[in-house]
Amino acid sequence: MSKPVIATASLAGCFGCHMSFLDIDERILALAELVEFNKSPFDDIKRFSKPVDIGLIEGGCCNSENVHVLRDFRKNCRILVSVGECATMGGLPSLRNSIPLRECFREAYLESPSVAPEDRLIPNDEELPIILDKVMPCHEVVLIDAFLPGCPPSADLIWEALTALVEGRPLRLGYELVKFD
Ligand code: SF4
Repeated sequence: MSKPVIATASLAGCFGCHMSFLDIDERILALAELVEFNKSPFDDIKRFSKPVDIGLIEGGCCNSENVHVLRDFRKNCRILVSVGECATMGGLPSLRNSIPLRECFREAYLESPSVAPEDRLIPNDEELPIILDKVMPCHEVVLIDAFLPGCPPSADLIWEALTALVEGRPLRLGYELVKFD
């Protein structure tokens, strides 16, 4: 019987959620028996090569490329999961949402003390993705089927959620998995 297929992506995130996934440690051997990975930074597969059962998304959408990747995941994944605070609520990148984009650019590229005078330029290469006015959590762009809280969600939480989805069990995330104190 074919294994369930998993894909993952990092949008506007820090890769901490992917690192937490790897913290499942030796359970990765059991996972390799249980599932097959498709498009993901874990295996460096860049394009979907088959329909995916479960897509895991880290990070929200801060630019046009994030939106494109997220829509592509929605199209190719039967179940789509928002992993971590950035994906579920915008997280740290969304702290800029209360500041006009023009001011963010000015501070980052023109007035920051860490920018040398000769480097003061707002990047405008046409190949760069367009920065969105606001950082959006994933569910404001596409339908999301499940949400995993935490920054990052713990390895145990990711493991429980993933195995439940793979085995068709209801997603019951107990207090021990979602408390962060
Ligand atoms: S939720 Fe936290 S760990 Fe995950 S991508 Fe965002 S900042 Fe990084």
